[in-house]
Parts: sequence; C-alpha cells; structure tokens
Amino acid sequence: MHSAQAGLADGVLKLDTEWKRRLVAAVASSVIAHADELTALDSSIGDGDHGHNMKRGFEAVLQDVDALAAMKLPDILKAIGTKLVMNVGGASGPLYGTLFLALGKELPAEPSRADAVTATAAAVAAVKARGKSEIGQKTMLDVLVPAYVAFAEGANVAAIKETAMCAAETTIPMRATRGRASFLGERSIGHLDPGARSACLVITTLCDEFGEI
Ligand code: ADP
Ligand code: MG
Repeated sequence: MHSAQAGLADGVLKLDTEWKRRLVAAVASSVIAHADELTALDSSIGDGDHGHNMKRGFEAVLQDVDALAAMKLPDILKAIGTKLVMNVGGASGPLYGTLFLALGKELPAEPSRADAVTATAAAVAAVKARGKSEIGQKTMLDVLVPAYVAFAEGANVAAIKETAMCAAETTIPMRATRGRASFLGERSIGHLDPGARSACLVITTLCDEFGEI
C-alpha cells in the first residue's frame, strides 16, 4: 500500500506527486531494463545503438525524477521531451523528444480522456512531420499509430496494451523505408524494428501503471 493519490474525479485525471513520480520512474526503468534487447534489435537492422541511446536519455530522466514529479503534467512531459532531445541522439532522440514535447504542449494539467486523445493525436502527427514518415515504414509509428487509434476508439488499458504488443510484431515482415534500416532494403524484412519495440515498452508500461488507477 502507498498513500499516493490518483484517479478520475469530475472526469479528469488527477495525479499527486507520488503518482507522477511512479509513472515517470516506471517508464524510464522499463526502457533502461530493456536496453540490451533494443540494442540487439538495432544490431540486426541498424547500427546497434538504440538501447544505448534510449538508456542514456531515460537515465537523465530518472536522475531528475523528484524534480519532475513536483511539476504539473504538461511541464513534466515538456521536460522529458527536452531531456530526450538532449541525451538520446540518433534518429530516435528528436522523434521521442518531439512526441513528449507535443504531449506537454497539448495536455492540460488535469486532462479528460478527450483531452488526452486530442493531445495524443497531435503528438503522433508531430512525430510523423519530424520523421517525414507514415505508418507501414517499419518504425516506431507502426506502434504509436495503432495504439493511438485504439485509445481514440475508447479501448481500455488492457486492449491498448495488447494493440501495442501486436503492432510491434507487425513490423517483422515489413521492409523498412525510413531510418537506417531502409539502407538494407529487402534484408530489413524478418526483424522487429527497435523503435517499434521501444514505443511498445513505453506504452505497455503506461498501461500497466494506469491499469492500477
Ligand atoms: P539511429 O537510426 O540514428 O541509429 P536509433 O537507433 O536510436 O537511431 O533509432 C532507430 C529507430 O528510430 C528505428 O528503429 C525507427 O523505429 C525509428 N526511426 C528512424 N527514422 C525514423 C523516421 N523517419 N520516422 C519514424 N521513426 C524513425
Ligand atoms: Mg541505431
């Protein structure tokens, strides 16, 4: 048992400092714990740095978890976005940075579900614009888009989690047409995209945490 307070009151999400700390720490720890797996995936179809990149970024987030937890939700997301842009590097740093910065820009401090859907739509659109990419190109978008659609259509956290996991798997037969993996052409087929896997980790961890609210 913990004394943290989180819940939906008057249709809006209210998170106390302890819950905000818990969410940020859970996402960062999940990415960090899977760094070797992400790096192995990127070794098959990229340059083998995705796990290392993401770990560096989320370690910077974890280091500041106390300060982050004291902020309002939009400011936490903007601060995370800035840290990821500054610390992750590669293609994924600016893309994940854009995702979190856009969420922070769009979300109110105590969002309703509708606010969260609108903000997520804007954040996914911002990633597409930054990456000049779309669904079907074997990238993180192949997880972000279906998870967003499930969320927008009213799916519960268990269904969103399942969608994200299945969506990551759909990148295996795809031929990459964006990012480093696209240099491999046909040889990119048959491998899970590392960015799709990291997006899946972020979403499934959030679902696990929100499942408890
Ligand atoms: P780099 O490719 O520069 O080494 P990372 O290894 O950290 O960067 O990240 C690679 C991941 O980034 C890919 O697996 C893919 O999911 C994602 N990615 C790369 N380019 C794009 C893009 N243009 N749009 C969306 N996602 C992309
Ligand atoms: Mg790489």
